[in-house]
Amino acid sequence: MAESAGFPLAEPGLWVERIGDRSFPTGRPALFLDRDGTINIDTDYPSDPAEIVLRPQMLPVIETANQAGIPVVIVTNQSGIARGYFGWDAFARVNGRVLGLLGEQNALVDMVLACGYHEKGSGPLGIANHPMRKPNPGMLVEAGRQLGLDLGRSLIVGDKLADMEAGQRAGLARGWLVDGESSTIGGFSVSPLRDAHDVDDLLTAIRSL
Ligand SMILES: [Mg+2]
Repeated sequence: MAESAGFPLAEPGLWVERIGDRSFPTGRPALFLDRDGTINIDTDYPSDPAEIVLRPQMLPVIETANQAGIPVVIVTNQSGIARGYFGWDAFARVNGRVLGLLGEQNALVDMVLACGYHEKGSGPLGIANHPMRKPNPGMLVEAGRQLGLDLGRSLIVGDKLADMEAGQRAGLARGWLVDGESSTIGGFSVSPLRDAHDVDDLLTAIRSL
């Protein structure tokens, strides 16, 4: 992987970082997680680590995946990079804070992918409908390639329909939409993630992978 300015950039607008040293046999399903609005409260283009507050709902979800030997992969759109609101250095600090807060609760993430492309950007990041930007499936497919995942049994949790669409386009098994409604996207089943019962439903799905 090409390194740029010390950051794990696979290309100018794509961050791909393996976290920790947990290894997984090929053919495992993964738990894909959106970040802002799913793991942490969305504060609109967070660029300051001090802003980061976790949503407690996701802690048992990540811990359950950890215990089940399911790789946990963050896939996050970061159009603030393309828009010039902040740089990869700020992303690194904020994301480090997210991972640090999770780690304090024994919730471990195995890989992080972030897409900095957006049509409203300028220069090399100003690309419309980039294949790595959700709802396109590029980040999920790339993680699947690098970790040898079984995408067809993998799950995704997010707070936007674009997260669910990315899951559907990547051929995942199911999705959970934070504060959302039950729906089906092209045969892809989306479940709501609102209350404790919904979380239990997700934990059961992870344990039965
Ligand atoms: Mg989000």
